[in-house]
Amino acid sequence: MTSNKNLTKNEPVIRLAIQKSGRLSEDSIKLLKDCGIELRNVKDRLRTESDNFPIEIFFLRDDDIPQYVEDGVADIGFVGENVLYEKNKKVDIVEKLGFGKCRLSIGIHKSDEYNDVQYLQGKKIATSYPVLVNKFLQDNNVNCEIHEISGSVEIAPGIGLSDAIADLVSSGSTLFMNGLKEVETILNSQAVLIKNNQLSDDKVRLLNKLLFRIQSVRKAKNNKYILLNAPNDKLNEIVALLPGMKSPTVVPLATEGWSSVHSVLNENEFWDIIEQLKNAGAQGILVIPIEKMIL
Ligand code: ATP
Ligand code: ZN
Repeated sequence: MTSNKNLTKNEPVIRLAIQKSGRLSEDSIKLLKDCGIELRNVKDRLRTESDNFPIEIFFLRDDDIPQYVEDGVADIGFVGENVLYEKNKKVDIVEKLGFGKCRLSIGIHKSDEYNDVQYLQGKKIATSYPVLVNKFLQDNNVNCEIHEISGSVEIAPGIGLSDAIADLVSSGSTLFMNGLKEVETILNSQAVLIKNNQLSDDKVRLLNKLLFRIQSVRKAKNNKYILLNAPNDKLNEIVALLPGMKSPTVVPLATEGWSSVHSVLNENEFWDIIEQLKNAGAQGILVIPIEKMIL
């Protein structure tokens, strides 16, 4: 007997695999929460359910997620592109998720001179990503011995195990602390939503429902709601700076000769436009986060 009301009603449920504990875990759960999906107690669990969305969550090692999704044990998964391309499983990528950003990079001794990838010719490189590294070396016509290790790759040159490493980097500080410098990027990676390539119609319907929510949350994160006051004689100039969803909202203020302008701004152009708005005479500019954005 299961306690999931969705299962007891015999309705389809979509099974999502996420990382149990690690760098993707918190953001994976947060994304679901932002999508309005409440999970039952997620601590120390192998699986859990939701009371308000027909979803079942499996907590796994990230390396195992592509295989589980290919086999159909899970229908969908959140996993880093680095793991996905290394494992090379037959699954479909549905959407980039915007978290877990890192790069798979090559690091060499800080003091070594580096001109190009030929530096690696005949050398030894330590990595947990032999498939991706091998492809990179082949593409660049470099012969190099790959030494596969599963953790603490960054210490390999220091203990004489290899001349170089290929490992995941975000700030580069771990490399630096180990006397290394980053010289090549093999892959830019972030978490993606993957799916089994033979989902039933019911599961596709649930996936689309989830995807719609994920896209709304992601768009909202990249945009801000902006309110400002403008003297009416500057309105045209100010409105021209603001794209808005269709066009900005303009409403008169109680003070004669002034209006309030409301619009939506993309994060990327945000500071540029704010400066131009100020220069054009806008006052009392308020910027508010948007929770969901449905276009
Ligand atoms: P597991 O026990 O699940 O196998 P792990 O030790 O392999 O965990 P983590 O270190 O938690 O994995 O990293 C999980 C994923 O987070 C990576 O595969 C990558 O996609 C992403 N990531 C983001 N930034 C970094 C980073 N700076 N270093 C390592 N991984 C990162
Ligand atoms: Zn892992």
